[in-house]
Amino acid sequence: MTPIDTESMLKTAIRFHGHQCPGLAMGVRVSEVMLRELGKPAKDEELVAIVENNSCGVDAIQALTGCTFAKGNLIFKDFGKFVYTFVNRENQRSLRISIKNEAVITDPRHSDLFAIVAEKRATQEEIDEFKRLHIGKSEEILRSPEEEILVIEEVAPIVLPMAHIHESICCDRCNEPVMESRIRLLRGGQYCIPCYEALMK
Ligand SMILES: [Zn+2]
Ligand SMILES: [Zn+2]
Repeated sequence: MTPIDTESMLKTAIRFHGHQCPGLAMGVRVSEVMLRELGKPAKDEELVAIVENNSCGVDAIQALTGCTFAKGNLIFKDFGKFVYTFVNRENQRSLRISIKNEAVITDPRHSDLFAIVAEKRATQEEIDEFKRLHIGKSEEILRSPEEEILVIEEVAPIVLPMAHIHESICCDRCNEPVMESRIRLLRGGQYCIPCYEALMK
């Protein structure tokens, strides 16, 4: 197996996500563990990621582990938790990785600047300071010893159904193809969800 190089993983993640940030750095560290412990990036659905948030780190996971939204092997649970569970269907191993509280906490100055920048009322100096802190935190996460930032647990094998491929049916109102399982029936017609909702108004 080729050694895992954090720098090149970060580059790949930034290319996909658009910027460097602490969340993305966390996703890189989580992906690193997953690749080391469960093998290689997923070509198909042999690996599945269950993510409990939809923050920046999930983009690193998609770019690096091959568990992606559109392939059906990225399952999103909207729990707002920094928890990532990976399932290897080939050897039944499941790994739960969570981020430690101390690693998530940002210093108050960083949080304040984040708010000011987001609300677009930051001066150039504040923007520069924010960028320094943001990249600094990200670098710190990339350099931290694994045991200081992550909790890694082997969990009981999780059995997940494979993603389904559905036939498409033509909507009676807009004439666009719709996945069969998403068709709504109304007064003898077959409709896509937006058309069904428009007809119900
Ligand atoms: Zn980000
Ligand atoms: Zn329609």
